[in-house]
Amino acid sequence: MQENIAIRNPATGAVEATLTSTTTIELDVMAAILKQGQRKWAKVPLQDRLNCIFRFGQLISANKQELAEILTKETGKPITQSLNEIGGAQNRIEHLRQNAAKWLSEEVIVGEGATLENIRYEPLGVIANISAWNFPYNVGFNVFLYALVAGNSVLYKPSEFATLTGQQFAKYLYQAGVPDDIFKCVVGDGETGQYILSLPLDGYFFTGSYKTGLHIAKTVAHKLVPVQLELGGKDPLYVTDDVTDIEQAAVSAAEGAFYNNGQSCCAVERIYVSEKIYDKFVEAFVAEVASYKVGDPMTVDTFIGPLTRAAQLTVLSDQVKDALEKGARLRLGGHALQGKGYYYAPTVFEHCDHSMALMIDETFGPLIGIQKVSSDEEAIGLMQDTAYGLTAAVFSSDRNRAMRILDQMDTGTVYWNCCDRVSPNVPWSGRRNSGLGSTLSAQGIRAFVQPKAYHLRP
Ligand code: NDP
Repeated sequence: MQENIAIRNPATGAVEATLTSTTTIELDVMAAILKQGQRKWAKVPLQDRLNCIFRFGQLISANKQELAEILTKETGKPITQSLNEIGGAQNRIEHLRQNAAKWLSEEVIVGEGATLENIRYEPLGVIANISAWNFPYNVGFNVFLYALVAGNSVLYKPSEFATLTGQQFAKYLYQAGVPDDIFKCVVGDGETGQYILSLPLDGYFFTGSYKTGLHIAKTVAHKLVPVQLELGGKDPLYVTDDVTDIEQAAVSAAEGAFYNNGQSCCAVERIYVSEKIYDKFVEAFVAEVASYKVGDPMTVDTFIGPLTRAAQLTVLSDQVKDALEKGARLRLGGHALQGKGYYYAPTVFEHCDHSMALMIDETFGPLIGIQKVSSDEEAIGLMQDTAYGLTAAVFSSDRNRAMRILDQMDTGTVYWNCCDRVSPNVPWSGRRNSGLGSTLSAQGIRAFVQPKAYHLRP
């Protein structure tokens, strides 16, 4: 395990901070402390636990600008998008305010007769939250806030690329009244995450890549504790020939593909367009992407900043080379940008097909492939030609047509005339290589408890 973690600013490559990694001995101690603390926390009334989370939300809002600057400094996310994420994540807290009591309270199933039957929902215990760097507020809140409200304690491991933000979560949770034996933030890289898998914990909640998720599921399988995996995607968007406003469809599709530099689990990763509107759509799409301001992520009107991880530049270059070799037509970008930082020019290919890696493998960057289709059936076949199952979108003016297509998608989420969107009101779940289990919605509240059946004879 590395002794220190260097926090680099992706816009410059400069080291902004050096943090000491949590040692294995400290991790053992943390797990023991969290175990003891959890027993007390589970007895705290639900409303008091919720009040802590509401105060946490207020503190996050009150310190939004500073927190956004920290997020931008360590991930390169443009500052306006950092502010949006921090503001938007508050909807998880509102969801808990409105729904936690409903889904966590005791249920009386049979209230009369010789034998009464009830269900109580007990916390899992100590859970690990091993998280990703791309939307640390959203994906973090989906897990640790819901876990805490349900009476669990949390060992939180932010990605090494979002550690400063993870430390802010701990600071403000403590200030909000969450005891420090209920939430611990770990500093470390993948090896630290690996050690967490060996601790005697009661659940593993992971957000990250398919490769690491699969490894985690296999490693902890023998413990027979809940494992949830929120993994990647290769999310398709199909633009049918009946869209009324092709330019608007292109603008929305481009935003879905390039927001947060394409580093979203549910980013649009491949686009299929009906041959009848193909040329018009592609021209509007290229014009929109060409208008994006690329630059310093601290500047308010920057839309494309640096990639968070330098290593991703190679993934993008390889996909670009492969697409060119196989005959795709490059319309924009196609190269890293000279100078400091991990910048890649927003890149658009057309005339793509499924022999190309950029239509099959997760890209996770500012690069998109567009393919022409001649029918809904062809589009459906291509959309489903993937090992992933996170989201799928259709743009069409005909709701019935869109629903017929979306019903055939083997994905956790489908979108009609929208994309790249998460709401706390409905489950967030992936199928096959996109994951296991749900966060958000009633399912996401119940994910952090285990039911106990009571058979009572008064
Ligand atoms: P990784 O899988 O690389 O890492 C995720 C987390 O796992 C990090 O905290 C990482 O630590 C840790 N980790 C790495 N190796 C191990 C190990 N052997 N044991 C335990 N933990 C380990 O994913 P990324 O951070 O690169 O995140 C990007 C991926 O996440 C994309 O595929 C994206 O689609 C997906 N994602 C899915 C979401 C969803 O809701 N479905 C939401 C957001 C992202 P460290 O970073 O310190 O190495």
